[in-house]
Amino acid sequence: MSIGVNIHHKIKKFTLDAEFHIQDPGITALFGPSGSGKTTLINIIAGLENPTRGHIQIKDHVIFEHNRRINLPIRKRRVGYVFQDARLFPHKSVRDNLYFGARRNSHKLARDEQDAIIEMLGLAPLLDRRPNKLSGGEKQRVALGRALLANPDILLLDEPLSALDHARKEEILPYFEWLRDHRKLPILYVTHSIDEVARLADNMVVIDNGKTLASGSVFEMLGRSDLPPLAGQFDAGTVLAARIASRDPKGEVSFLDCAGQRIVVPYLGHRANKDVRLHIRARDVMISRTPPNDISANNIIPVTIAKISSEQGDTLDVSLCFGHDADASFLAETSGRPTLHARITRWSGSRLKLGLHQKVYAVIKSVTVSGPRREL
Ligand code: ADP
Ligand code: MG
Repeated sequence: MSIGVNIHHKIKKFTLDAEFHIQDPGITALFGPSGSGKTTLINIIAGLENPTRGHIQIKDHVIFEHNRRINLPIRKRRVGYVFQDARLFPHKSVRDNLYFGARRNSHKLARDEQDAIIEMLGLAPLLDRRPNKLSGGEKQRVALGRALLANPDILLLDEPLSALDHARKEEILPYFEWLRDHRKLPILYVTHSIDEVARLADNMVVIDNGKTLASGSVFEMLGRSDLPPLAGQFDAGTVLAARIASRDPKGEVSFLDCAGQRIVVPYLGHRANKDVRLHIRARDVMISRTPPNDISANNIIPVTIAKISSEQGDTLDVSLCFGHDADASFLAETSGRPTLHARITRWSGSRLKLGLHQKVYAVIKSVTVSGPRREL
């Protein structure tokens, strides 16, 4: 097991009850609104705060267990922590900041591995600078480098991109993707951005008001409209795996293959056969009873209604299984068939007389594509 947490903690009026077990390495998003306890939880994992009771395990090491009085000190926990603000030492050079934690580390990385990290993060030209001469994105890269040079068992990232603008985010995101794909380092990534979750995460833990509500694969979790932090945002939707198949002759669009279904997206470059990930928000999916013709949306997919739920007041959440040939066994959400999620008004639901197992068309207004998982 990569990480197991079951803790109870109380600070003044705030109570945190967190329980999750993530088996795979990869990136686990810790997702929840502001004030839900995300920073408190990763501070506890890092050893910066002690929980009232419970246990925490990383890889096969128990780092905290209240009953057995196990409480490893911070430096023995082998966690790399990147704070929301980079927190570099202002009076030290980038070089000294980078090697600060690594120096007294008994699990030191070999010299060539250290150099590879400096290289991968493009830090070589910055080594002699002071932090006040760095941009926000550069500071975060130094903070990430410092955490990695300590050779951690797990990386904790507390909203590492929230202080950056869109361009600087795009500059840093590939490094996280590289860590996930090449270094197999488990990463717990705190965020309240669904876009970051959809792009990066393999697994997801949802936290709200001091309680972890659910955890599991990002494909499964993002489709759940019953979890308040997701439902509240109107951002829940579907994450699907797809592959670049071909392009139109003019190179204006790319055609993706998603479980046999063709999806059209803005041109992604000459990257046939690359795997990509699609994020389709529930609010960007419309439902039509007949295949619409004169419509600007490029993606009209035959689907079968697998589930209709209506917990959210005047809206309906409709699960749509790919294909018109789906029988009842396929319509179970666990069948492995891609399922889209649509959020429509209750009024449109009754106007269209939507019902279970009905064959309809999903009209997709917008698809966000992330990946291809690129090589740096
Ligand atoms: P998040 O990172 O999800 O925004 P935090 O973990 O920072 O949430 O905070 C969770 C809750 O704990 C908040 O209500 C916050 O006000 C409270 N809190 C955090 N640290 C302290 C502290 N040292 N003393 C009192 N309350 C705190
Ligand atoms: Mg926080």
